[in-house]
Amino acid sequence: MNRDEACAARTAIAGATPVAAAAANEAARARAAPRSGAPLAPWASDPARSRGRRHPAPPPGARSEHQRDRDRIVHSSAFRRLVYKTQVFVNHEGDLYRTRLTHSLEVAQLGRSMARALRLGEDLVEAIALAHDLGHTPFGHAGQDALDDCMAAHGGFEHNLQSLRVVDTLEQRYPDHDGLNLSFETREGILKRCPRAVAQRLDAAEPGGVARRFLDGTQPSLEAQLVNLADEIAYNAHDIDDGVRAGLLDFDDVGALPLVRRFRDEALADHPALAGRPGRLLLFETLRRMLAAQVGDLVTTTAARVEAVAPADADAARHAGPLVGAGDAMRIAGAELKRYLFGALYRHPQVTASTDRAREVVRELFAAYLGAPRELAPEYAARADLPRAVADYIAGMTDRFALREHERLTGRRVFGDAPG
Ligand code: MG
Repeated sequence: MNRDEACAARTAIAGATPVAAAAANEAARARAAPRSGAPLAPWASDPARSRGRRHPAPPPGARSEHQRDRDRIVHSSAFRRLVYKTQVFVNHEGDLYRTRLTHSLEVAQLGRSMARALRLGEDLVEAIALAHDLGHTPFGHAGQDALDDCMAAHGGFEHNLQSLRVVDTLEQRYPDHDGLNLSFETREGILKRCPRAVAQRLDAAEPGGVARRFLDGTQPSLEAQLVNLADEIAYNAHDIDDGVRAGLLDFDDVGALPLVRRFRDEALADHPALAGRPGRLLLFETLRRMLAAQVGDLVTTTAARVEAVAPADADAARHAGPLVGAGDAMRIAGAELKRYLFGALYRHPQVTASTDRAREVVRELFAAYLGAPRELAPEYAARADLPRAVADYIAGMTDRFALREHERLTGRRVFGDAPG
């Protein structure tokens, strides 16, 4: 080898080393994170072994049963309405805040990533995530509380139950049955909470169905458990983002929380220039690291728990107690973050001023329709149980439709600017 050849060889090796290292890293990542299509774990919900639908349906063709559920949800009217429903900020307050729709997409994204790493049913996770908030009223929790008060003498109102009602009854898209006729597994995941008395009523109507677990004290599928946790991880992170964007939270205060501080310090150590940069790159980098760490922790903790129990199948997993969860340190830090957000953001005077007015809109709408049922859409006005029809009608409204209807029926505009 002459000098030129030796030099060329050194250059080639020097050039190849990072490439080889990248390839090795990529291979390690591929081993750690199963690709979509990897075989399901024995304890996953296999769509081929679905407990089926309440009404007969032809085989799903090229799709799995859970993919078909996801598709039915995406094509529903209730899903489209999520885009104009409040998560924390009333819909017309700003274009960049999360709505129920973008929240649901974030839950689906986080849920799918974790399901893939755990070899659980990704499509089932996605279906449950996209449907989990379909029963939310306009104006977020304020709307639900107001509607629950209005319905106190008529069986109350609860958004998890309402989500199931939407997919089982209220969506009208098929000639021969009400609702979307979703599979048992998706409906089970949608019914996240259920008081015992309601579970007894639901179980009488559908013996051994989705409410049974609230009477037996068993768990829903691992996929449903996973979506519940993905929901929390998603809203804790995006409510910080939205709260800082709105100027209601100070990132220095948020950064003092142990969970956030750790990732903020790491982000600054890796990118010292972020400290002086205008804009919110430091916030984004902190939240990205926090999300990745929460996802990683949940996957590791859950994998260890599930493998220790090694349930024979998805049903055995339902009888094994809650298996999906974060490690103790992450769980405690997450609870602290939640407490902080509750006091600093959800109870912020500017947020409560807006939600107090939203409550008033819901209460006055309820009274107006109850006094003049002809003002309801005809299919609701025709129903025998008027209070429930009114609750269903209001619950289905977007924030801006509720504001328009309120103005039409009362002649008063509750929020200063015109709804879109
Ligand atoms: Mg949610």
